[in-house]
Amino acid sequence: MREVWLIKSEDKNKAELAIKKPACPKCGSNQVYFDEEKGNYICKECGYVGSVDDSTSRASIYIKTPSSLGLDADGVFFIIQCSDEIMKNVEKRLKKYGEKYTGKEAVLKKVDEQDSSAIQGLGNIF
Ligand SMILES: [Zn+2]
Repeated sequence: MREVWLIKSEDKNKAELAIKKPACPKCGSNQVYFDEEKGNYICKECGYVGSVDDSTSRASIYIKTPSSLGLDADGVFFIIQCSDEIMKNVEKRLKKYGEKYTGKEAVLKKVDEQDSSAIQGLGNIF
């Protein structure tokens, strides 16, 4: 499934990291690393040791500015593609940084149009 989120411009990097990196289930920090010796994740922020959810790292993220799509909105679009199950976790991570965009269909339409024109452009080169 695909969802479109409108993320505040200043939170773009944090939001991207929140999806790509595992998050601590206790404090929500992304300062989590895997300790080979202990065979577990450790959180640098709060000291949590245990398993973490890293499922959202399998989601595909396309980041587009509204202006690049000819749309008007305050922030950047995160177009997320993943399974329904992973989307639930993505939502939990992203809601701190923005909201689901109500004009989702318009964004996806533009993105698909640009994709197909990119493919046509390639065709012209060869
Ligand atoms: Zn923590």
